[in-house]
Amino acid sequence: MKMKQILILGAGMSGLCAARQLKSAGFEPILVDKGRGVGGRMATRRFEGGTFDHGAQFFTARSEEFRALVEEWRESNIAVEWFAGYPSPQNDKPSDAHPRFRGESGMTGIAKWLARDLTVHLGEEIERLSFQNGRWTAFSRSGNSFEGDELLLTAPVPQSLTLLRNSGIELRESLQNTLGSLSYEPCFAVMANLDGPSQIPPPGALYVNGETVWWLADNFQKGISPREGSVTVHSSGAWATAHYEEPQNEVGAALLEAAAPFLGAPVESFEVRRWRYSKPENPVEMGSFRLRSINLSFAGDIFQGAKIEGAALSGLAAARKLIS
Ligand SMILES: Cc1cc2nc3c(=O)[nH]c(=O)nc-3n(C[C@H](O)[C@H](O)[C@H](O)COP(=O)(O)OP(=O)(O)OC[C@H]3O[C@@H](n4cnc5c(N)ncnc54)[C@H](O)[C@@H]3O)c2cc1C
Repeated sequence: MKMKQILILGAGMSGLCAARQLKSAGFEPILVDKGRGVGGRMATRRFEGGTFDHGAQFFTARSEEFRALVEEWRESNIAVEWFAGYPSPQNDKPSDAHPRFRGESGMTGIAKWLARDLTVHLGEEIERLSFQNGRWTAFSRSGNSFEGDELLLTAPVPQSLTLLRNSGIELRESLQNTLGSLSYEPCFAVMANLDGPSQIPPPGALYVNGETVWWLADNFQKGISPREGSVTVHSSGAWATAHYEEPQNEVGAALLEAAAPFLGAPVESFEVRRWRYSKPENPVEMGSFRLRSINLSFAGDIFQGAKIEGAALSGLAAARKLIS
């Protein structure tokens, strides 16, 4: 019997975990992503000698199912522990015992490893979908099309809903309302190469939780950057909302000024990344969602706890529903 083809939009953590699970059950998953690389919000960038994790910074493993995955990654030298607890400037953040893991070479390294031996089409932004005679076709901006018996959408939900709407595919009102209420906060990430080491204390992670700066990391101390003083600055969600449309060089300069007390060395160069959808604000604990009538599923961090762990668990849950 021919196995169903599963088309997965998004090669972030949820799409990759779903694809691996489906492949091991004998399905033929096809991943399509608009990015130049896999990983989505698990993003690592290199410039001028520095390496920067500029999306997700670390992950915890609180569930048994995810701990088992992380164990496999650790045994394969893909993930390592970065620190435990949560360093803040006043040391006032209660420290929990959970280890914080990072990708050995950066966060994207984990996604690349998960993507090995999977079929992934990169640089393909899906602009329109059609569902006809029980099959899905996804049409990309570059003019290519991808088909599947089932479609799994793992983009941030507002993007998936826009895509469905632009394709004339209507969801029933109650579902539309539930999915339509899901929201994510924005975030600016500044990647800066300093002229010398930063003053971010070991382990190179600082939960600032200020009105402007929310998080600081020193990617050299983290162990992923060969260059000293390559820092990542994350804005707070409120600050990103207020400054969302401002020119990126102004945003970068403002965030670096706010972070200056922790930097300790002049900034040589910087780049800014604007994340429209960084972290879910109101996650629902559904695992994933499947509309059997039209072979359509949704997965992603917002369906299971809002983080990398949730994205992985959601992808696995979506795959289980498709396999059963
Ligand atoms: C700044 C920042 C800091 C974070 N910090 C942490 C942290 O420290 N710890 C933690 O656990 N989590 C953190 N997160 C959240 C974490 O990154 C996410 O929970 C997780 O990576 C989400 O995975 P996902 O697969 O659900 O979605 P994504 O990673 O967003 O994957 C969705 C994919 O869909 C693709 N896509 C979207 N639209 C289209 C389209 N039309 N056509 C083709 N492809 C499309 C995207 O390119 C993307 O690759 C952070 C996120 C950000 C942005």
